[in-house]
Amino acid sequence: MANNEPKCAFCGRPRSDVGILIIGPDGANICDECAKLCVEMTESSSAKHNPNATGMTPAKVAQTAAQMTVDKKPEPEALQPVSLKKPEEIRRVLDGFVIGQHMAKKVLSVAVYNHYKRLNDKLERERKAASGNAGSDDVEVEKSNILVIGPTGSGKTLLAKTLARVLDVPFAIADATTLTQAGYVGEDVENILVRLLQAAGGDVKRAERGIIYVDEIDKIGRKGDSASLTRDVSGEGVQQALLKIIEGTRANIPPNGGRKHPDQKYVEIDTTDILFICGGAFVGLEKIVGSRIGNKFLGFDTPTASGRELSAEEIMAELQPEDLFEFGMIPEFIGRLPITSVLDHLKEADLVHILTQPRNALIKQYKKLFAMENVELEFEEAAIAEIARKAIALRTGARGLRSILEKFMLDIMYELPNRPDVKRVVITPDIVCGKTFFKN
Ligand code: ADP
Repeated sequence: MANNEPKCAFCGRPRSDVGILIIGPDGANICDECAKLCVEMTESSSAKHNPNATGMTPAKVAQTAAQMTVDKKPEPEALQPVSLKKPEEIRRVLDGFVIGQHMAKKVLSVAVYNHYKRLNDKLERERKAASGNAGSDDVEVEKSNILVIGPTGSGKTLLAKTLARVLDVPFAIADATTLTQAGYVGEDVENILVRLLQAAGGDVKRAERGIIYVDEIDKIGRKGDSASLTRDVSGEGVQQALLKIIEGTRANIPPNGGRKHPDQKYVEIDTTDILFICGGAFVGLEKIVGSRIGNKFLGFDTPTASGRELSAEEIMAELQPEDLFEFGMIPEFIGRLPITSVLDHLKEADLVHILTQPRNALIKQYKKLFAMENVELEFEEAAIAEIARKAIALRTGARGLRSILEKFMLDIMYELPNRPDVKRVVITPDIVCGKTFFKN
């Protein structure tokens, strides 16, 4: 509540808590409910005491009325449809931020396009119904949440974040491993919604059409492989709690987060139209799929018709819901994530692109940092390839790139301000490997 918000002089409630507030002179304001109460009181007492007395001349009544204004609570802004881009346009924006992952981009662009098309259609129908123009079409397209499977640092979070940015909808990230059922030590599942509401600037309607990315979804699947004894052992309880909000529920959340307690004010969020993108590395899933399709080929002499060994990507292209079940996900959960998209391991060429191409590419950032000291920074092609190779060895995808760069750039950045004579720095493969210090 703003401090200068007018209040009812009788009950003390601010304008935002009442229906109508009649503003009188010098703060003599009254809300609709107190006014009603006054009328009831005056009617009953004037009937008993002096039915003819008004206490005011007609001129005085008119003068008092002229000083009053009715101050109505502003109507909430009508919800606007999401400005929809075609799958191809969405994909093109993704290309500007995310390198490679062509299939995943296509699957996600279509899924997100359909999701918001469905929501805009729903909004249109609600409008028509409100104006008494409801049509006869009662087919309602169901929500399709998305499961993104891919190695660490392959761009799962980046894809989800970029999609939210393309569509200009609120976005929140949650880590499934920190989630617990209410009452356990850890973060309540509903706290995810608190973060989304905060990303929507407190606008519940906007939050209800946002995107939530739940990371490490595979880590709550493992039966008997729980990180903490304070959590339920199988992780199934968390899956069930997540399932509820993913499939659509009305959740009461404390707008500022934290544990619920009895005298707190809650905000109700309907999760029916929130798009959930769940991601995980699913280490070992490849083997599960491989052994299943291997079994299918038992009648043949070789594992594939061509006799060639399948690559990890080709194996994962055969993924079926039963493999996820085998991995440890509960069936209802799998059913609620009907769209699956598999991300590839990033190869050396992809990592080179990631280092150099996106708008905020790491190498561009370092160049800018050096330019601020009037020093030109250059990377030899072979040096960039060496950084990419080091990242592949680390097995953390593009995530490892920054720490590799930081390691060899540290000494240079430490020394540079002492060397006003240096106007140009060239990064060679030897510098990347720590064999020499700096070359200018
Ligand atoms: P994860 O797959 O583990 O969710 P992230 O999306 O969080 O990985 O990626 C970690 C970082 O690596 C991001 O901040 C991004 O800069 C970079 N990155 C990962 N994959 C890609 C990609 N395909 N294209 C561009 N940058 C990427």
